[in-house]
Amino acid sequence: MSALATSIESRRDGGAACDRPAVLEARDVHAFYGKSHILHGVSLRVNEGEIVTVLGRNGAGKTTTLRALMGLTAVRDGRVHMLGHDVTRWPAFRIARLGVGYVPEGRKIFGNLTVLENLVVPQARPGPWTLDRVFGLFPRLGERRGQLGRQLSGGEQEMLSIARPLLLNPRVMLLDEPSQGLAPLIVQEVMQVVRAMRDEGLSVLLVEQNVPLALGIADRAYVLDDGKVVYAGSAGELAANRELVDKLAGATAESKGSSSHASVAPAS
Ligand code: ATP
Repeated sequence: MSALATSIESRRDGGAACDRPAVLEARDVHAFYGKSHILHGVSLRVNEGEIVTVLGRNGAGKTTTLRALMGLTAVRDGRVHMLGHDVTRWPAFRIARLGVGYVPEGRKIFGNLTVLENLVVPQARPGPWTLDRVFGLFPRLGERRGQLGRQLSGGEQEMLSIARPLLLNPRVMLLDEPSQGLAPLIVQEVMQVVRAMRDEGLSVLLVEQNVPLALGIADRAYVLDDGKVVYAGSAGELAANRELVDKLAGATAESKGSSSHASVAPAS
């Protein structure tokens, strides 16, 4: 059996801390774009209070996985469970209402609305995340609350796109490549926010192309290749196995500067 197969075989549960309940579970999910079969039986799970990252090369199916979980791309086969419900084929708004926040790739904010207006467009759900707390977490958004979305820097727009679903007080947050196109210092800030969300009890599913960054923050990791899970296990163990990182997600690691392998740190 190859090392790769072993890593999958020995970790059917992704090394999950089984004492914590799953808040999200995909079982053998298949999805298509037209006739193109994109996801070939993806299974993954996020337990309460975990940060779980989904890695993989360009076109591996990471965004499609998030979209399928969120009800935005049809699940042709397989099941998706969230927060105690079978949400397979539920529309996205119903999944969101259950307590699932989704930050899509590419910062979808309203450029012609102010920061404050962007934040209050969705009807806030009661919970620990209030406007004041969100401004506490993102001080620059507080300072710029009267500015139009299009006047913000890329980093501020990313913060705004994360802050908005936070006000819905979700229990699970799905983030699609929040580091994309951001300067390293801003990326660190975004990751601190992701940690703060986890510390508040949120469970996070984080799609990333920046492998060292994601493995440095996540508890567990899945690697996708060609719409299949090729690694499921501890983020720290994957980070420590440079050979495996290169094999599974090498192209992405290189594209983000493989010299930063030294900074691949196990999750705290
Ligand atoms: P990236 O990091 O580049 O965003 P990804 O891992 O998120 O990649 P997906 O965006 O899920 O990958 O794409 C998976 C496959 O589906 C790719 O082959 C892509 O070309 C294809 N694909 C994505 N969106 C569509 C679409 N709307 N119509 C047809 N094919 C698509």
